[in-house]
Amino acid sequence: MKQETKCLHSGYEPQNGEPRQLPIYQSTTWKYATSDEMGKLFDLEASGYFYTRLQNPTNDTVAAKIADLEGGVAAMLTSSGQAANFFALFNICETGSHIVASSAIYGGTYNLLGTTMKKMGIEVTFVDQTLTEEELAKAFKPNTRAVFGETITNPTVSVLDIEKFARLAHSHGVPLVVDNTFATPINCQPIKWGADIVTHSTTKYMDGHAVAVGGAIVDSGNFDWMAHAEKYPGLTTPDESYHGIVYAEKFGKLGYITKATSQLMRDLGSIQSPQNAFYLMNGLESLHVRVERHCSNALAIAKFLKENDKVAWVCYPNLEGDEYYELAKKYLPNGSCGVLAFGIKGGREKSIEFMDSLKLCTIATHVADAKTCLLHPASHTHRQMTEEQLIEAGVAPDLIRLSVGIENVDDLIDDLKQAFEKI
Ligand SMILES: *Cc1c(COP(=O)(O)O)cnc(C)c1O
Repeated sequence: MKQETKCLHSGYEPQNGEPRQLPIYQSTTWKYATSDEMGKLFDLEASGYFYTRLQNPTNDTVAAKIADLEGGVAAMLTSSGQAANFFALFNICETGSHIVASSAIYGGTYNLLGTTMKKMGIEVTFVDQTLTEEELAKAFKPNTRAVFGETITNPTVSVLDIEKFARLAHSHGVPLVVDNTFATPINCQPIKWGADIVTHSTTKYMDGHAVAVGGAIVDSGNFDWMAHAEKYPGLTTPDESYHGIVYAEKFGKLGYITKATSQLMRDLGSIQSPQNAFYLMNGLESLHVRVERHCSNALAIAKFLKENDKVAWVCYPNLEGDEYYELAKKYLPNGSCGVLAFGIKGGREKSIEFMDSLKLCTIATHVADAKTCLLHPASHTHRQMTEEQLIEAGVAPDLIRLSVGIENVDDLIDDLKQAFEKI
């Protein structure tokens, strides 16, 4: 099946007389006839459902669709994108580990790595993702366990050179984890370019309608944990809490996701509710149609802004002349996303004045949603950062993040025009 068809048919194949739409298994628990049957589930000796904190059929069906769309072997849903990135990394890192991450990543992930995971004794080195391989190699340490980046960064819409980062990670014997939230598997499948693990905030385009916070982790099954066994004891040595199971041995290519569900979810509990997974399933069905419209609208608006003499600068990877145009041509030939960043002449004050004059485009702490919205990262999402950190993350103080929706583009441009006239 092609991606468009997978959006509709992958994951859930109802049999004769079964519901056409995925049922919501709104149940915390499952019933078994004998205690022996249930015991086998707890020992991971048999597969089956017993408690929704670990697994739920609605969630698993949606995860299977996402795995198929990304070209992975297994996937799991999490309660949020934050939980997805935390679980994806914590599944292979522990106290004393080190991570190399792009400094241009989403502010929430920057805080997760730089503040909270640091408190757990996991150290991070943030790197400028545009540096050469030789320069980037200097960031690696003997205790490096993962490399992390975003296909398209939020909010600066920089494109990650996935092949470059995959080569770097693999030459240091560690996996590349890519957050593919903005590109979605419709526009880019990072696994095809060498990424080992892909994460998502499904809150964004996948859900697409701003109704449910969620996340997903997809494993390519390609990273050979046993070949680097000394680095990943969690996957390659016995888990005493499961009678000495060695995940990478017992479950092979499914070991990474099995550990994350049966150990991390068991202990940390950040499940997506089955109800939210159902909303996500509906969002995924139209993902390919929406993403196309988001991209064509965003490109038209990027061109409009570029021509406007009140605009200081515009970043949109598919705009000719953009710093990331060549990388976008390679990794995102059909379009990147609906998000673009721009600055207004007159800086911070004029930007705020402009935003407050908009009528159709709304100010919202959201992005990648059917309705056009925008925010000013320096005063919203990134407000905890110092000026220095803002500059390191490439977030100019005048940066406006515009998330272009799927409205008629002429209506959106009219709204932008009237707001420009007021400043
Ligand atoms: C929003 C976002 C996240 C965090 O996701 P939540 O669902 O809000 O927890 C992570 N990464 C990227 C790229 C995002 O845009």
